Amino acid sequence: MATGQVPFRRAVVTGGCGFVGSHLCDLLLDSGVEVVCVDNFLTGTADNVVHRRADDRFELLVHDVTTPIPVSGGVDLVLHLASPASPQDYLRLPIETLQAGAQGTFNALELARQKKARFVLASTSEVYGDPLQHPQRESYWGNVNPVGPRSVYDEAKRFAEAATTAYRTEHGVDTAIVRIFNTFGPRMRADDGRAVPTFVRQALAGEPLTVTGDGSQTRSLCYVDDTVRGILAVASGRHTGPVNLGNSAETTVLELAHLVGELCGSASPIEFVDRPVDDPGRRKPDITLAWDKFGWRPETEPRKGLSTTIDWFATQLHHTAAGER
Ligand code: NAD
Repeated sequence: MATGQVPFRRAVVTGGCGFVGSHLCDLLLDSGVEVVCVDNFLTGTADNVVHRRADDRFELLVHDVTTPIPVSGGVDLVLHLASPASPQDYLRLPIETLQAGAQGTFNALELARQKKARFVLASTSEVYGDPLQHPQRESYWGNVNPVGPRSVYDEAKRFAEAATTAYRTEHGVDTAIVRIFNTFGPRMRADDGRAVPTFVRQALAGEPLTVTGDGSQTRSLCYVDDTVRGILAVASGRHTGPVNLGNSAETTVLELAHLVGELCGSASPIEFVDRPVDDPGRRKPDITLAWDKFGWRPETEPRKGLSTTIDWFATQLHHTAAGER
């Protein structure tokens, strides 16, 4: 992963034991920034940061961000990622998801206000709902069902964006919002229900790849190294956002299933299953703003990112089969 100088000495990463958060902790540490990782293991695990345990610039604070976040000492960056993120998780944890987006965001903002730190909210393409505009630009307000099953996540993030904006205007906190589109890579949970880990798990096990609907719905998949590089680029700048971070290369879910099957060397058949309620039909970010303001765009070739991810899952399954942690 590329490293470089960033204008921070000590960062707090809420949700730092999750998939994206743990890679962000790695990038910050590799860039010379001390990290306080705050997590309550609701959907993440300490295993994701275990390789940093011996680094005295890394601190793990086991804490629920829905209560005030007790970090002593100087902090010049707060990155707020704590929230269930996969549909399976937020459908299972609807209240916790709303609370992470509401109280959790207020507490993270309050920490940034007290420390006079830059604050970055990890928002999501889900704020666009089932979008009626393609590709989605930051100026689009979205098409969200406020009482549908996904609303607990979509509306929590929309609220979090509003809270972030209010702290900027009312308290002068130096805030930014990134809207992350589908990201994949090592450290996703095999059972988190998202397309890439599901297909990889099924292909490696020789099971049918379950494609929802007819598989013509699209996703834009960004490799996690690119996503965290984008988050840090936005954090290091002065822009308030929102800024889309994602891959503008659109792929259908069916194409993705075939590609994962091929890269796994699997003969697994495709099995079509029901599509979830309010599952978005198309997802594709317009990343012009990220490119113009930060020179950011995804650099990892999708096949390369998928191969790295598949290798990681294969190693995990091997360790599990061998009875190791
Ligand atoms: P994840 O579930 O792997 O990580 C979330 C982390 O937050 C977990 O470690 C979890 O234990 C922690 N957490 C949840 N509630 C908490 C609480 N109350 N207190 C403390 N910690 C708490 O999810 P992820 O995929 O890494 O997503 C991270 C962030 O990025 C989320 O805010 C998500 O909305 C955003 N995002 C991710 C994607 C993606 O494709 N992965 C896309 C859009 C947005």
